[in-house]
Order: sequence, then C-alpha cells, then structure tokens
Amino acid sequence: MLHIVVSVKQVPDSREIRIDPKTSTLVRIGVPAIVNFYDLHGLEEALVLKEKYGGRVTVISMGPPPAEKALKQCISLGADEAVLITDRAFAGADTLATSYVLAEAIKKVEETWGPVDIVFTGKQTLDGDTGQVGPGIACRLDIEQLTYVSKVTGYNGETKRVTVQRKLEDGVEVVETKTPVLMTALKELNKPRRAPMPGMLRAAQYKPIVWTTADFPNLDRSKIGLKGSPTIVGKTWVPEIKAADTQMLDGDTKVKVGTLFDKIWETELPARFGWDHAANGKGA
Ligand SMILES: Cc1cc2nc3c(=O)[nH]c(=O)nc-3n(C[C@H](O)[C@H](O)[C@H](O)COP(=O)(O)OP(=O)(O)OC[C@H]3O[C@@H](n4cnc5c(N)ncnc54)[C@H](O)[C@@H]3O)c2cc1C
Repeated sequence: MLHIVVSVKQVPDSREIRIDPKTSTLVRIGVPAIVNFYDLHGLEEALVLKEKYGGRVTVISMGPPPAEKALKQCISLGADEAVLITDRAFAGADTLATSYVLAEAIKKVEETWGPVDIVFTGKQTLDGDTGQVGPGIACRLDIEQLTYVSKVTGYNGETKRVTVQRKLEDGVEVVETKTPVLMTALKELNKPRRAPMPGMLRAAQYKPIVWTTADFPNLDRSKIGLKGSPTIVGKTWVPEIKAADTQMLDGDTKVKVGTLFDKIWETELPARFGWDHAANGKGA
C-alpha cells in the first residue's frame, strides 16, 4: 500500500495575467485562480500509482482560504484527503519558508495517516516559477529527490524501490532509488484525467482539513512567513518589447533569395564584420 502526498499550489491563470504599468506588479484582482498545471500531472501520477498498487493520496497546499477550491478540484479527481495549511503568519513566505512549512505539514500527514512513500510536486509554478520548493522539501525531510520526472516506469512494493525517467537537456536518464522519495513532475509524465461525476459529487460536499499554526506546536516561528523569508525582491520591471525589424520580400523563391543575398552583402557584411567591398573586391 502506497501513501502518496501531492503538494499543489493555487496560482493565477497566466493566460489572464496583466501587469500594472504603474507599479509593475501582477494584477491579481479579477484573475481566475487555477491549480498549477504541473501539480495536476503529479496528482495524475499519484492516482495512477494508487490504482495500480493500492494506497491513498493526500493533497496539501499552503495558501489563503480561497485555495480550498484548488483542493476540492483535487478531491474531484480522486484524492482521498486534502489539507489546507493557512494562517496569516504564513503569508509573505519565500521558497525557503514555503518548503519549511510544507515539510512540517508532510511530517504531520505521516503522524495522522501513516508513513509517506512518495511526495509529488510540480517542476515549477506558473507564478513564482522558481522550481525551488520541491527540492527544498526533500532536503528538509532528508529524503531522496528525483527532479524533472517524465515517466514513472516501475515501483516494487517489496523492495520499496521506484524507477523513473528524468528529462535532461540532451536526453533521458533512467534512475532507480529507494522510497521515501520526492519527485518533481513534468507535463510529459501523463495526461491528467477529467473529474468523473462521483468525484465531482464528493468534492461538492467535501471540506478540506485546515491546519493553522496552532496545529504545529513545534514550528520554529522565525522560519515562517515574511519574517522567515530572507529573499528580497530588489526591483521588478516589464521588458520593453521592440518591434522586430522585418521586411517582406517580393517575387518567387529565386528572386527572394537573390534579394536577400544582396541585402546581406551590401549592408550586413560591412556593418557586422567591417567588410570593405572596395578594398576586398566583390568576387568572393
Ligand atoms: C518576500 C516574498 C514575499 C512573498 N509573498 C507571497 C505571498 O504573500 N503570497 C504568495 O502566494 N506568494 C508569495 N511569494 C511568492 C512565494 O514565495 C512563492 O510563490 C512560493 O514560495 C513558491 O515558490 P514558487 O512559486 O517559485 O514555487 P516553485 O518552487 O516553482 O514550485 C514548485 C512546486 O512546489 C509546490 N509548491 C510551491 N508552492 C506551494 C504552496 N504554497 N503550497 C503547496 N505546494 C507548493 C508545487 O507542487 C509546485 O509545483 C513571496 C515571495 C517573496 C520573495
């Protein structure tokens, strides 16, 4: 029996994001919130593993109360239990403070429902986009970590070992390791399912479990929220978008190639490489 935790973050739908031109910050008001899509790939893989090997899937999220909606969506897809970690004291957390609180929450999940074998996070979020929280959780829990997982190829319940494919820049790496393990999910991992009707009905009535700082008596208060976040955002700005210097060429392909060659010869060569036609002649 596997116990899998999936850590999900509710993020603003990036297709709807606008930047306030005066403050250069994200305009979040009126922007719909969605479950970070890499996290849905983590959840899908957890559900597939549960269906294959048996077990339970617990979803956790740290965020403000509206993040409850993201957790209910996970329940509709098939998660067994969902926990919202929320408290004003957690607000303003950077990746260091976020991974600390999430690691403490996973320890509490273990105390409540038993040992955790696999933790899934997304590769990164659509808003913060750092990709630091997954590895941060693994370090704090002192467990194995497999990042950029594109396929889970096997799990052996007896040896408690898992085999995955990791996507690298120049290929694919096959890795086997022992559990407990944290994996960060890529979109290549699977195709997330649609919520079935019974799942939707369950989610409609489900209330996520809420944990506040009061539920973590041993939490180090100096490591949470804004106080526990050493990251400083020095400046934000929107890069200037310059219109590309393009020109449409007329004629058939032969004429276009000839015109292009002439343009490169007449303007680009002298400008870029200091080529002097008069001195070097034209017959190169
Ligand atoms: C000074 C400062 C103040 C900030 N204040 C706020 C704030 O008030 N509110 C706010 O929303 N953000 C705030 N942020 C941003 C916040 O720190 C990051 O969004 C958060 O730490 C996660 O980092 P990320 O989005 O880059 O996650 P990544 O590292 O890119 O996320 C990787 C994966 O980790 C998991 N994950 C990440 N965050 C969470 C989470 N909260 N719950 C569950 N799983 C998660 C998901 O599976 C995700 O796919 C602040 C940042 C700074 C520097």
